[in-house]
Amino acid sequence: MTDMRLKRRRLLQAALLASAGARIEPARGADAALDAVVIGSGFGGAVAALRLGQAGFSTLVLERGRRWPIAPSQDTFCTYSKPDGRAAWLSPTTLLFEPVAIDIYTGILDVKVGNGIAAFRGAGVGGGSLVYNAVLYQPRRELFYQAFPGSIDYDELDRVYYPRVRSQLKPAPVPADILGTPYYEGTRVFLQQAARAGLSHRLLDIAVDWDIVRQEIQGRRAASTIVGDVFYGINSGAKNSLDRNYLAQAEATGNVEILPLHVVTAIAEAGRGGFQIQCNQIDEAGQVQVRRTFRCRYLFLAAGSIGTTELLLRAKATGTLPRLNQAVGRFWGTNGDTLGTRQGSTPTNPTQGGPATAVIEHLDNPLAPTVLVHTPFYNSPQGALVHTGLQPVKPEGSLSYDAATDTVALNWPTATATARRNAQAVQLTYDILDAANETATTAPADTGITAHPLGGAAMDKVCDTDGRVRGYEGLYVVDGALIPGSTACTNPALTIAALAERCLERFLDRRL
Ligand SMILES: Cc1cc2nc3c(=O)[nH]c(=O)nc-3n(C[C@H](O)[C@H](O)[C@H](O)COP(=O)(O)OP(=O)(O)OC[C@H]3O[C@@H](n4cnc5c(N)ncnc54)[C@H](O)[C@@H]3O)c2cc1C
Repeated sequence: MTDMRLKRRRLLQAALLASAGARIEPARGADAALDAVVIGSGFGGAVAALRLGQAGFSTLVLERGRRWPIAPSQDTFCTYSKPDGRAAWLSPTTLLFEPVAIDIYTGILDVKVGNGIAAFRGAGVGGGSLVYNAVLYQPRRELFYQAFPGSIDYDELDRVYYPRVRSQLKPAPVPADILGTPYYEGTRVFLQQAARAGLSHRLLDIAVDWDIVRQEIQGRRAASTIVGDVFYGINSGAKNSLDRNYLAQAEATGNVEILPLHVVTAIAEAGRGGFQIQCNQIDEAGQVQVRRTFRCRYLFLAAGSIGTTELLLRAKATGTLPRLNQAVGRFWGTNGDTLGTRQGSTPTNPTQGGPATAVIEHLDNPLAPTVLVHTPFYNSPQGALVHTGLQPVKPEGSLSYDAATDTVALNWPTATATARRNAQAVQLTYDILDAANETATTAPADTGITAHPLGGAAMDKVCDTDGRVRGYEGLYVVDGALIPGSTACTNPALTIAALAERCLERFLDRRL
């Protein structure tokens, strides 16, 4: 280890020791201050951790959830058919499909139930990458600026930052031999139906290791991806979640320590510059073990749209970050998510063939550009196809803090002109598909849930486009909170990570 790395390592250890017995005490002396703390280990947090670690910054990552290492026994995660506490974050029931009673546990999937919307998110080292469908979908240039400010150069993202993320997560479309198996019948029918309807369609880039999926088919790995077990984690290890690339590499730099089961409760300005972070170390039942305080020079917020916004709203309301502006909590959106099912008589094996694999891009829909992602779904009847819809949406939602209860409410207006237009647009796409395929739409697309919460600390409002929080030198937002409500008709993870890469490169250019 070089002298510099030894020094960084000692600094990390000092910070950990200073906080270990702290219970409710503030952090000790400045010698325990870290270069950087990253809150959250999803897409934004993982990128920040790696780039800070590589640049030699002593960095602590505080993550509320546990680690989910793929075990040789291939039973890290619970399954849809046998759910247990691992399915949900500190909840007495499962959150997806028919509710099932489970033990209270620091499980992998969380939901924020708001007014007009329920927003799903991941919990654990790797954040949303643990639960996601692994779709890495780049927005088109022509739609990008409907969602993003003109000061972000799409060509630079396209040339530099999207490829940088792809080089880590290694996405690829489902190979032909796998697509040809009965497991992926739903994908094939989806593509055939789109072709008959004259709608543009293609396979998506998916961040799974298709060789491992092949081994599932051969019976050499636990059948998990192929049977559609995706949202509680993939036991075979096929999913290229962030703990297996960005975060593993961050730890390997020797400069980054990840502390799982650490729930950050408050952030504040510290004297002489820098920030102070309070958190609860919890056990796997959610019980607080120790209250810890850390101090750092640079603070990177990456607790996801809802987590980051909650921390900022509390800090503003309680006066620990009094210069935050009035836009905190605003410019929030659902990414235009919808969920709908169409039914036909042709077999689709709709529960199988995960994760999501293909897309219909009805961008010339006269009402609104509409994208449908084929989504294998547990409990769907034979012949069904489930579609995750993505449409342009205005960031008309908000989060607000209630001091009396110390809680944050999520509000999503459902009767807006955009909501009406989008509902008609997605129905039109369904109608075109149904007319060409002798299928029927089973119910209007559901707009009351999202897996893609975005905004709350939006760029050009709370932050600049480099993630710098206005009013605070050294405070950054590098996750989905930075994005004002939509990633332009795509699933957002790739764009969140690419923007985080962009933010970190600009941060390091200024500091080094
Ligand atoms: C079921 C599901 C499927 C999805 N499929 C796709 C897909 O296929 N493609 C795609 O692009 N997107 C998908 N998404 C969305 C994607 O997961 C998110 O957009 C993405 O993970 C957001 O990245 P982020 O960095 O903003 O935050 P996250 O990835 O959510 O990470 C935030 C992290 O912060 C932690 N945290 C929160 N609060 C605190 C706190 N107070 N203290 C400490 N830690 C905290 C959380 O536990 C979490 O690990 C899916 C989401 C879900 C729920």
